This record gives sequence, structure tokens and C-alpha cells, in this order.
Amino acid sequence: MSWRVLKFGGTSVTAAPLAAAGIVAAAARERRVAVVVSALAGVTDRLVALVGRARAGAADLDDDLAAIGELHRERARRLNGAAALCRSRFESELRSLRAALAEVRETGSPHAIARALAAGERLSAPLFAATLEAVAGRPVEVIDATELLVAAGSPEEAAPQLEATRQRSRLRLAGCLGPVVVPGFYAGAGDGAPLLLGRGGSDTSATLLGAALAADRVEIWTDVDGAYDRDPRRFPEARLCPALDFAAAEALARSGAKVLHAQAIAPARAAGTPIHLRNTFRPEAPGTVVGPRETVAVRKAA
Ligand code: ASP
Ligand code: MG
Repeated sequence: MSWRVLKFGGTSVTAAPLAAAGIVAAAARERRVAVVVSALAGVTDRLVALVGRARAGAADLDDDLAAIGELHRERARRLNGAAALCRSRFESELRSLRAALAEVRETGSPHAIARALAAGERLSAPLFAATLEAVAGRPVEVIDATELLVAAGSPEEAAPQLEATRQRSRLRLAGCLGPVVVPGFYAGAGDGAPLLLGRGGSDTSATLLGAALAADRVEIWTDVDGAYDRDPRRFPEARLCPALDFAAAEALARSGAKVLHAQAIAPARAAGTPIHLRNTFRPEAPGTVVGPRETVAVRKAA
């Protein structure tokens, strides 16, 4: 049975976790499903601010760390039964975050910065997995992104490595039927150290994994209906595109449209994996399909 990769952005996992879990549970009845999640809304920005303060030598970061911990604990408490499981993961993530920030303060290490910023997704993944277990009624495994995805280069904006990701993810997922939940936004270096894929990089995590697993498609679930031909906030006459070929989507992403992270298209294009852009808050909207020219021509004609 082929894989399908579903990615949920920060707004979806924060404001609509049950709807998101329902969408995953339905997909998991048909396919092996891997879910990529963003950090809760606003958390990465808070981590960026914390890293900035650590670099400037601030030592009094405990209140901010406690607030981030409490934000996640409070959500876990709403999930009957799952709270205890999440709590032990949260505690270990928060300890690692504290250690990474101490290292940032002492050495300014870009690798420590990457570890600190990855904490948002490392906290949201177990939370979403617990929600999904409750909704789907089956066990859900959290797999760290460094065990599946490979990137190379700068720790804050690394480049995805498709062939190495194929090898790493296929080995790790052999025999696994899913569903699995994977934190977005970072991959592992050759040695497994976390490297960020750039701000907004969870889209790239999803397309890289989907391409590596030869997924039937990658679904990117956000809070808009799909890709528009121009910015709908500035141009009321903007029209939703039902389908776009990879080249057109790349041009749109480069022009600054917030369709997809600009780096996200390349792995899907290389593997010919269609990307479906969908709205978690309006699942009845058909969305936009980004894909090979032939696939897209069929949808446009339909
Ligand atoms: N949480 C990260 C960011 O805000 C990555 C993402 O959401 O795609 O940039
Ligand atoms: Mg985002």
C-alpha cells in the first residue's frame, strides 16, 4: 500500500486539531499515512526571540521557557488519558531546549540555534499524535525528522537531499504501516544533527518525505482555499487556481505568493509527486493541485 503525506500548518494544529486529526484518520483508512506538523501558532516566533536574547547574553529565560511548556501542557490536559504520555516528552524537549539556549549564549553555535528553533515542532508532534490516537482509535508513532529526512549545508537554511532521504526514510519505515507523526521544519545532517529548512520549511519537510516514499500525493493543509493567481488580500479580483503545473507554482512562489515554501516544490517535481493544497477549515473546498503538466491538464479540463 502506498504512502500519503499530509502536512498541517501552525494555524491548523492550534485552532483545529480535531478537524485535522479527523482528516488524517480518514486518509489512514486508505493509505499508509505520514503526518508532518508545524509548531503551534506563534511558538517559532517566540523561540526566535528567545534565541536572540540568549545570543545577547541574557540568562533569565526561565519564565519564557515555562510559558512555552505550559502552553503545550495545557493542551495535553484537554486530551483525556494522553496528558501523562505527552508530559514526559515535553519535559525532555524543554530540557534539551534549555541546554541548546545555554550553548547559544556561550558559543553562538548555529547548530545550537537550529536545535533550539526545532523545539516548537518537537513539542507539537507528540501533542498531535495524542490527538490522532484519540480520534483514530489506533496507536500512532512519533518519529523524529532526523531519522527520516536528510539535508546539507547551513544549519538555519539547509538544502534537502532527496536521494539520501530515500535511503534513510525507507530503511526507517520498512514494515511500518503508519500512521506516523513527524515534526516539520528540520531534517538531519549526515550525522543526524538537526538542520532547519528555513522559516516556513515544514512544507519542504512534507514534499521531501512524500517524494522519498513515492507517495501517491502530498497534501498541504492550511487556512486558505489554495493558490490564487495574485494576492487575494490586495486584489479582490484574484482567482483561485484549481491546478498549476510545477513550473507555474515555482514562478508563483518566487514572486512572493504565499502558496508554498519556495524550496518545497523541487523534491516533488523531481519525483513527480502531486501536491494538493487544501483548507483545514473548509475541507469541502476542492483546493489546488500542483503537479506534472499532464495531471494538471486533466484537472483543468474537468
Ligand atoms: N514553525 C516553522 C516556522 O514558523 C516552520 C513552519 O511552520 O513551516 O517557520
Ligand atoms: Mg507555517
